[in-house]
Amino acid sequence: MIKQYMSAMGVDESQYQAGDFAVHSPIDGEVIGKVALHQVNDVDTQIQDAKKAFKEWRTVPAPKRGELVRILGEVLREHKEDLGALVSLEAGKIKEEGLGEVQEMIDICDFAVGLSRQLYGLTIASERPGHHMRETWQPLGVIAVISAFNFPVAVWSWNTALALVCGNPVIWKPSEKTPLTAIACQALFEKALAKFGDAPANLSQLLLGEADVGNALVEHKDVALVSATGSTRMGRIVGPKVAERFGKSLLELGGNNAMILTPSADLDLALRGILFSAVGTAGQRCTTLRRLFVHESVKDDILPRVKAAYSTVSIGHPLEGNLVGPLIDEDSFNNMQDALSKARAAGGTVTGGERVLQDKYPNAYYVTPAIVEMDAQNDVVRHETFAPILYVMTYTEFDEALELQNDVPQGLSSCVFTNDLREAELFLSARGSDCGIANVNIGTSGAEIGGAFGGEKETGGGRESGSDAWKNYMRRQTNTVNYSTELPLAQGINFG
Ligand code: NAD
Repeated sequence: MIKQYMSAMGVDESQYQAGDFAVHSPIDGEVIGKVALHQVNDVDTQIQDAKKAFKEWRTVPAPKRGELVRILGEVLREHKEDLGALVSLEAGKIKEEGLGEVQEMIDICDFAVGLSRQLYGLTIASERPGHHMRETWQPLGVIAVISAFNFPVAVWSWNTALALVCGNPVIWKPSEKTPLTAIACQALFEKALAKFGDAPANLSQLLLGEADVGNALVEHKDVALVSATGSTRMGRIVGPKVAERFGKSLLELGGNNAMILTPSADLDLALRGILFSAVGTAGQRCTTLRRLFVHESVKDDILPRVKAAYSTVSIGHPLEGNLVGPLIDEDSFNNMQDALSKARAAGGTVTGGERVLQDKYPNAYYVTPAIVEMDAQNDVVRHETFAPILYVMTYTEFDEALELQNDVPQGLSSCVFTNDLREAELFLSARGSDCGIANVNIGTSGAEIGGAFGGEKETGGGRESGSDAWKNYMRRQTNTVNYSTELPLAQGINFG
């Protein structure tokens, strides 16, 4: 099956069957590829090659750079089905979500093409006669992208489409759990390059490996920006290392996302919002809904409906019409069971969370999504467990719900379901949600590429994708030009 998609995308079997690092599909645990990993001492070579590419690419006019990204978007459109299916096979996403991820790649390419003619700076009034000031944005340098298993292709494209139009080369270290989709993306990028024609070599390079090669990128003084997506544990190591050498980092780390469900909410809408956000991608999205704060007056109405909806969700092979696919691996399953045991020990009432399809797939981990009713928000709730666990708690006053929602170390996504204008606006105000994403009457997951994506606190503070996230990939320069024959000093200083 893999071969069919890979060869359609121009990937030769030697690229994914000839190495000694086995790649397992979460669908059945079978080995679907054997790749050759890079070594730490390959990293410097890649960086030096990227530096050469940078010298050339930064001088190419930005709209021309946008043309390469436009072609990449076309190639992705052509191979949406192939790459989407590969995402399902390697990461376990259901078909719709695999395709949706590739659509996100296409969307960011479109966005970046427009952006390539809009890398706007400022003109600033000078206090001195015969002078003008402006602020310009220049290409930054070598960009390293480190990505997580759960968005194996979109995160690369969010970074790469913007980095390229901003004049930079990219080195991508994908998750060691998803190297095949990365190899396919590289092949599609090369297709786009061939159509584009005259681009420097090594504009986008793939670095396959584990944390050690990621670390070599992180520590290298010639990497201008490290854009790292993954766990807070990883970010806690990467962030300080980049800061120590005065590099830039863009961190997209764990989330612990909440919904506040108020008495005035449209419960039908909320039910759909809960289901997609909490159960979609088997709870393995950084924006997955993990905490539900429901007003005490609505709990008895909504909770049975949520449980009933959960019981109808089909679980199984992601390409066979099911809504929930597998967890990525055994560790993930064990982490989920561990969190559920701790929740039980803390008095939580657990519905679901069991392993299913064990006979059919003894080497894969399918679970029923879990609902855990908790009396209070304790440490197990405050921790991000990357699996489908929805903690449900009640509240009485809206202010109390806001406090609970913000009382976690992470700050990625949040939402309120309400038809009360005051509650909605309060949620979005300075004393409302402290997250990077705050939604009204929409669930926590499924962001569009047009907005800046990212979160506060232990989520890392980075912003990717839309809005002005492109500024991460450029350096800011303030210019003052004197077109007079005098040399007046600022602040009226008279120097001799
Ligand atoms: P992970 O942290 O285990 O790995 C992520 C990447 O970091 C991998 O490529 C890994 O090899 C690399 N890595 C790990 N340690 C490193 C080190 N010391 N130096 C350099 N590189 C290192 O995460 P995962 O299990 O693949 O992904 C799940 C996590 O990612 C969850 O916490 C999820 O919330 C988070 N995530 C966040 C976002 C976001 O945008 N905020 C998006 C997707 C996933």
